[in-house]
Amino acid sequence: MAFRHIARKSSKVASQLKKATFTRINRPYSSRPETSTVPNMMDIGTRQIFTEEHDIFRENCRRFYREEVAPNNDKWEEDGQVSYEIWKKAGAQGFLCCAASEEFGGPGGTWLHDIIMVEEQSYINHSGCGFGNHSAVVLPYLQNYGTQEQKEKFIPKMADGSCIGAIVMTEPGAGSDLQSVRTNAKKDGDDYILNGSKVFITNGQMMGVGVVVALTNPDAKSPAHGISLFLVEDGMKGFKKGKKLKKMGLKAQDTSELFFEDIRLPKSALLGEENKGFYYLMTQLPQERLSAAIGGVAHAEWMFEETRNYVKERKAFKRTVADLQTVQHKLAELKTEICVGRAFVDNCMRIHLEKGLDPQTASMAKYWCTDLQNRVAYACVQLHGGWGYMWEYPISRAFVDARVQPIYAGTNEIMKELIGRQITKS
Ligand SMILES: Cc1cc2nc3c(=O)[nH]c(=O)nc-3n(C[C@H](O)[C@H](O)[C@H](O)COP(=O)(O)OP(=O)(O)OC[C@H]3O[C@@H](n4cnc5c(N)ncnc54)[C@H](O)[C@@H]3O)c2cc1C
Repeated sequence: MAFRHIARKSSKVASQLKKATFTRINRPYSSRPETSTVPNMMDIGTRQIFTEEHDIFRENCRRFYREEVAPNNDKWEEDGQVSYEIWKKAGAQGFLCCAASEEFGGPGGTWLHDIIMVEEQSYINHSGCGFGNHSAVVLPYLQNYGTQEQKEKFIPKMADGSCIGAIVMTEPGAGSDLQSVRTNAKKDGDDYILNGSKVFITNGQMMGVGVVVALTNPDAKSPAHGISLFLVEDGMKGFKKGKKLKKMGLKAQDTSELFFEDIRLPKSALLGEENKGFYYLMTQLPQERLSAAIGGVAHAEWMFEETRNYVKERKAFKRTVADLQTVQHKLAELKTEICVGRAFVDNCMRIHLEKGLDPQTASMAKYWCTDLQNRVAYACVQLHGGWGYMWEYPISRAFVDARVQPIYAGTNEIMKELIGRQITKS
């Protein structure tokens, strides 16, 4: 059966596509325009990496975020988390775990559909729903390393939004240096006994299932050879959710501490092979880093358009701020940088779809695009003047939300380590 969003083509999308199309004489490749040439960087029907089917899906996502998510943002920021209901609504409409096959109750789309959701979330400047983490980070662990039984148990519930996924690596004493994790799972017959604690876990408070990193062989030749992944479920005896952490930004996103006290895990909770966990993490992290880069560029595009609108309205010295040449130069610089980032990250997406994205290129995308996002955030607040510092102006939220991007999914310093090591290796 075709991905269900294909059936929802609207005349609005068709007219957007028509507007966006232009002819390239004697060029056999796609006529879809790239971001630098279109009236608004968030226009639908652009970028050669996508097809008309993706445009239809994107339009549906955009409507969902505008109608169901944006109106609740303020309340969720006060609550420090989004509602369970929004997860179920997203699941019911086929917006979660898009890459999950219909065999496991998924919508039967691809990674690119999950990425459209990430981009569209950036395009409404919303950071509360941890959909990207759930669909584009946690799901691939189950798809790639899960047994048939694990897939049947978790993927349908993750796809319908009744079971929220988390990736559970970081500990109070182990972030960048993942090999120093202390959470451990000791063998007891066929079972494992899990002890330890984790911190900064996205979706932690609402988590139904977490992919937990634990030491299984402390005597291995290096910690990397003694780490395994486990599927820990909410409600397991000995599993406690700690504080919902108060943060500088991402105020509607729940980020939590988690505690494991003598949790008895059956062998069926082991994800993949014992002691292969570090290898699995290293294999999956490039995709997570690419997602951060993609979110970064999309958010930069949103900030640019928001600010462009603002300076065209704002008056100073009897003309608009946009009429000032220094402002025009600043916008020119920002647009150029964003388009450079867009070209690189779209190319990384294309390479990743062909399964060729190497860790160093993913690290380059993560570091450069999330730094770009922060440069754009800084400049856009500045262009808003004092109003940019007021919470009622969305650019203010964008500024604080951007700040974490160079920190999580591997800090940008660690990204440079990975890139630099490869450069000097030979
Ligand atoms: C909002 C938020 C959400 C998060 N979500 C999750 C999640 O869902 N799951 C999860 O497991 N984790 C999550 N994290 C954790 C995040 O991945 C870590 O915070 C990050 O990896 C950095 O680890 P750390 O905080 O221990 O910093 P540290 O490792 O202590 O680093 C401190 C500083 O030292 C630098 N540094 C460390 N080592 C090196 C080195 N070798 N070379 C150069 N510089 C170095 C770092 O770059 C950084 O500037 C989240 C964090 C935040 C803030």
